[in-house]
Amino acid sequence: MNNTKYIFVTGGVTSSLGKGIVSASLAKLLKARDLRVTIQKLDPYINIDPGTLNPYEHGECFVTNDGAETDLDLGHYERFLDISTSQANNITTGRIYQSVINKERQGVYLGKTVQVIPHITNEIKDSIKLLGENNEYDVVITEIGGTIGDIESLPFVEAVRQLKWELKQNCLTIHLTLVPYLAAAGELKTKPTQHSVKKLQELGVQPDILVCRTEHNLEKDIRDKIARFCNVSEDSVIQSIDAKSIYAVPLLMQEEGLDKVVIEKLNIQTKEFPDLKKWNEFLEKQNNPKDEIHIGLVGKYVELQDSYKSIVESLDIAGVSNSCKVKLKWISSEKVTSKNVEKKLTGIDGLLVAPGFGERGIEGKIEAIRFARENDLPFLGICLGMQCAVIEYARNVLDLKKAHTVEVDAETSHPVIDLMEDQKNISDMGGTMRLGEYDCELKDGSNAQKSYGKRSIKERHRHRYEFNNKYLEFFEENGMIATGKNPNNDLVEIVEIPTHKWFTGVQFHPEYKSSVETPHPLFIGFVNACKN
Ligand code: GLN
Repeated sequence: MNNTKYIFVTGGVTSSLGKGIVSASLAKLLKARDLRVTIQKLDPYINIDPGTLNPYEHGECFVTNDGAETDLDLGHYERFLDISTSQANNITTGRIYQSVINKERQGVYLGKTVQVIPHITNEIKDSIKLLGENNEYDVVITEIGGTIGDIESLPFVEAVRQLKWELKQNCLTIHLTLVPYLAAAGELKTKPTQHSVKKLQELGVQPDILVCRTEHNLEKDIRDKIARFCNVSEDSVIQSIDAKSIYAVPLLMQEEGLDKVVIEKLNIQTKEFPDLKKWNEFLEKQNNPKDEIHIGLVGKYVELQDSYKSIVESLDIAGVSNSCKVKLKWISSEKVTSKNVEKKLTGIDGLLVAPGFGERGIEGKIEAIRFARENDLPFLGICLGMQCAVIEYARNVLDLKKAHTVEVDAETSHPVIDLMEDQKNISDMGGTMRLGEYDCELKDGSNAQKSYGKRSIKERHRHRYEFNNKYLEFFEENGMIATGKNPNNDLVEIVEIPTHKWFTGVQFHPEYKSSVETPHPLFIGFVNACKN
């Protein structure tokens, strides 16, 4: 019999309360009790996936092993849980409608009128239950994006209402709200929480547990009041107070007894306490760094740091492995020129050039890389960052002054970054992207091979253009070496300059494979080079 338990997490009052972090923290606590857990995010927007969204809209697009372009919360899930997610872990309204409309065209609904209820809600329910099939997980946590009261999330809430009815004791709902502190009154206010719960009740869903985001401790009288007005038991009013690090949230949730209440309510038999030994060691090290280093992050979305979420977290985690605190200097690529590059890059111990698409800021990235190369400053280039390193080397070392990527200059006389032949005739942009996990073989003795400590790796990709192998010999004769290659098609995945202190450009995205308990070797290697 399938015994999977389902937990739904909704949010009220306002967005940005940290629903993703609370969901990931609960999942972490359950996993630390040896339960098999996964988390899923339902996004109410109509895009099929966030792949085509500008990072200003929704921050980073996170890529899974199976090549799904997903919400950045999946990055948190993977970093907290040390698991791999997949397309099934991120569903959007667009995807739900696309599937229903395809079925309608195929005649699956046998001439019936296709409606939000039951067709859309059934599709949503199927996407939720899919993860619980095959008895792969003991617990499936489903985070509903958006805020209760939004028109666009109504079908998701309705699906939750129906599932609560169907699944009975095998599911529960957690509602995340805000308890604001009014300085003028000197008081914490419960009314927004009451209203938000009322709204949820109007939609037919009674939350079982309330997680209340707050800047101040919730005393017993406030908790009692919330419990009384919202029909939840007192031990189910959980405070979520601002934390110094997102990685401290699982411990705060444990202190509040969130995992205990969940286990009791769902009647799960498991060990008495979560095993958080490794997690605590990480926090202990994070709180007591022995060193501090400064890394310059050059990108075009530096005003919105969520655009580089996984890179920032990966550096932070790699810092902890190196017993040091990584401080970031955000540098807008558009503002870097040959005249100001030295000033822009002062005070940093290493340079990271970020991924990206399109022309904007690309010359600034190239200037920054030139500076790092000429001044023996440790460098890590990711995806477009790697491609810029190749262009810079071609222009300034190989003297191919017009070298470029065809993404920016389709007519360049030296397309050192190009489309592969078989991509050239595809007109649908999505169809030409290399997405998801691919093999890579490393050259012995390279920065990469020394960091990974092995020769065969798998990394995730998200790009359209590639190093142009027609130029490879010329590059290698003159000091830039391909130290990582795809064994199946010979595509260059990593370039390095062995005479440089630590200069590594990677075509893939190591930031998608870094987690708290398994920090990424390449980030560890880079931070270590910056530290020395
Ligand atoms: N724009 C480049 C490409 O499509 C790099 C993409 C990226 O940095 N993710 O190849």
